[in-house]
Amino acid sequence: MSKHELEQQLIHTAHALRERGLLFLGAHANLSARAGDQLLITRGGSMAELGSADLAWLDLQADPQHVEGFSPVFREILAMHTRLYRQRGDIGALVHCHPRYSTAFAVAQRAIPAVYEPMLRQGIQADVPVVAWAPRGSEASVNGILDAFASPSTVAVLLANHGVLVGGGDLAEALGRLTAMEEAAELALHAQALGGAKPLPAAAYADVNERMQQFQKAS
Ligand SMILES: [Zn+2]
Repeated sequence: MSKHELEQQLIHTAHALRERGLLFLGAHANLSARAGDQLLITRGGSMAELGSADLAWLDLQADPQHVEGFSPVFREILAMHTRLYRQRGDIGALVHCHPRYSTAFAVAQRAIPAVYEPMLRQGIQADVPVVAWAPRGSEASVNGILDAFASPSTVAVLLANHGVLVGGGDLAEALGRLTAMEEAAELALHAQALGGAKPLPAAAYADVNERMQQFQKAS
């Protein structure tokens, strides 16, 4: 994929966040995608009308203190993106935003339970954990995120009292995971009025994987 194509894909993903109702009232988000040892990342602008002038290419090893052309609010979160890519070679895209139901769990410091089958099919096969609060973009905050992602099965986290961070092999996968997680958060809250969400059988996680592999082979 060319650089231009990846830029278009990232802009398309930002627009999808808005269209799917995954942005809160302030429309705050930041997104990135890896291309080899380079990183494409939002450096400013509004997610509601993101354009290519709002994107920047960076060396993955770049020191965030010495990167030019970023608004302060976007410069603050550079280390979160670069350090996570350096730790997890399987992650090719990251989305951070404040979707209303998932962020309610983050503010309550409660994990989103993995009780919704589409979440499992998107590769989120355990409760989405909460990373302890620390100031946005701080060393403590990034260290907490890296600790949670040290487990290879972690692909999404809740940032306590703030929002979410979701990874995927590419932007489409990250968007799919974010969407399923937000649906799960909304459903878990509605289920509270009906006696609470019930867990899937323990074997469901293996079953979902097995069925997906069978159908992939058949198609
Ligand atoms: Zn945020």
